[in-house]
Amino acid sequence: MGTEAGGDDATTDQNAMSNSSTDSMNIGSSSSSSAAAPASSNRYENQKRRDWNTFGQYLRNHRPPLSLSRCSGAHVLEFLRYLDQFGKTKVHIQICPFFGHPNPPAPCPCPLRQAWGSLDALIGRLRAAFEEHGGKPEANPFGTRAVRLFLREVREFQAKSRGISYEKKKRNKNKLPQQQETSTSSQLSLPPPDAI
Ligand SMILES: [Zn+2]
Repeated sequence: MGTEAGGDDATTDQNAMSNSSTDSMNIGSSSSSSAAAPASSNRYENQKRRDWNTFGQYLRNHRPPLSLSRCSGAHVLEFLRYLDQFGKTKVHIQICPFFGHPNPPAPCPCPLRQAWGSLDALIGRLRAAFEEHGGKPEANPFGTRAVRLFLREVREFQAKSRGISYEKKKRNKNKLPQQQETSTSSQLSLPPPDAI
C-alpha cells in the first residue's frame, strides 16, 4: 500500500532519493575473494544500507511529505519513536513493581521498546550514511544536539528501568551477560519491509 501512495507528491518533493550514485559503489560485494574482506565490516555496510533504506521509506510515507534536505533533528526523534512500536525490549515504567529489576519473575504490562544500544548504533550508521550520500556534516540531522540528548535520556531511563548499567557491561565483556539476547544488541528489531 505504501509503495504507490506517494506518487502524486513525488514531483513537488525534491526527490530525496535522486542522488543514489553511491549505491553503485558496492564495496566488498565480490564473493570470489571472500577471504580478504572482514565479515564484520560487510555486515556493518549491509546494515547501514538497510537502515538508510528504512529511513528513506519513512520519509516517503511521511505526511505531510518530507524531503531529506528539510529533515531536522526533531524528525529524527519522530522516526526513533516510530521505531519503538517494533521494539522487543521490555522497559518498565516507574510504577511497575519490576522497575529496576533486571530479571523480573513474572510478566507485566510495560511497553516493549527498542533497546538503547540498538538506537545508538542505528543513529551512528545513519549519520555516516547521510554524509556518504552527499549531506553536509553541519546539516546532518542525525548529529544534532537534540538527538544526542534524546539518546542520553533513553540510556539513563533504560538503565534505571531495567536495572542495567551500560557502562559496567562494557568492562566485563569477556563474560557473556545472561540477558544478552535483547539488552544491548545492536540489531534493530524491525518488521519485514512490506509492513512499513
Ligand atoms: Zn514492568
